[in-house]
Amino acid sequence: MANSSYFRISVISKCNLACQFCHREGNYARLEEILTPQEIQFACKVALKAGFNKFKITGGEPTEREDLDVIVSLLSQLHLPDLSMITNGTNLVALSQKLWNAGLRRINVTLNTLDPKRFQQFRPKKGIDVQSIVKGIEVAKQAGFEHLKINFVFFDKDSEKDLEDLIEFVRKTNLTLVVLPVINDNRLYSLDDMYNLIKTYGIRSEEIIVDNEGLRKRNIYLNGGGTVLLRIDELAWKRPYSFCSKCANSLQCREGIFPIRLSANGELIPCMADFEHRINVRNILRNRDEDGLKEAFRKITLWQQ
Ligand code: SF4
Repeated sequence: MANSSYFRISVISKCNLACQFCHREGNYARLEEILTPQEIQFACKVALKAGFNKFKITGGEPTEREDLDVIVSLLSQLHLPDLSMITNGTNLVALSQKLWNAGLRRINVTLNTLDPKRFQQFRPKKGIDVQSIVKGIEVAKQAGFEHLKINFVFFDKDSEKDLEDLIEFVRKTNLTLVVLPVINDNRLYSLDDMYNLIKTYGIRSEEIIVDNEGLRKRNIYLNGGGTVLLRIDELAWKRPYSFCSKCANSLQCREGIFPIRLSANGELIPCMADFEHRINVRNILRNRDEDGLKEAFRKITLWQQ
């Protein structure tokens, strides 16, 4: 594998939902440890110099951070080649315009069902319903995020119906649905099963693309509008780090194993399932120590194979 060029920045560990299949990307971070917008900007500036070219803002739920627009604005000043954010969509009605004005141009919204009852099963939080997320997607489109993507985790047998509903939704809205397999021992559907299912909904054409990590994906263009993006290659085939051979989770490599992550409390994380090879760079960031941060990136790169 080529060295990772993908940098994910968790700006907050808190989330306002509690999805069953959340992979808990954000380290728990105490308030006093949380990186400031300026420290996050410094980290990205050095990451850019170190060769990273794809940047994603994550959480927890990033829109729960009150100064998110300040962070976006500071990152926009760096002219990063590819900056996007992943969100559960619950705050998009309130924040879409502000984030667009701050310079954000791409959003992925996680949405696993359009069925209100099932939504509550996935995300047991009172006061938040699926309609508020659909409304948020509409508002985001109006604000300028016309090409936003919806991340859908194919979770269980009932996901077939969810997929059908979401395909209809992206067809009408001309959006992209990213279909992801759930990563656990009870997985019912292979990527090929999902592909065969998607084909039954009527496709116009498709193209195979290879991403920066060498993984093959299909862009599937639906009859009547909208696109589905589905991986061809299983993550478990890959072993991105030299310590993978000793990993107990190697058959369940989680989504997004390739990016290097910066946690909200300033840890560089090569793989979420690994706790031995994290590097705490909080003081390095606080001291704006560019050489120290470059050295931390270099160390992580050495573990990549
Ligand atoms: S360390 Fe991470 S990337 Fe490597 S095999 Fe384990 S889960 Fe996969």
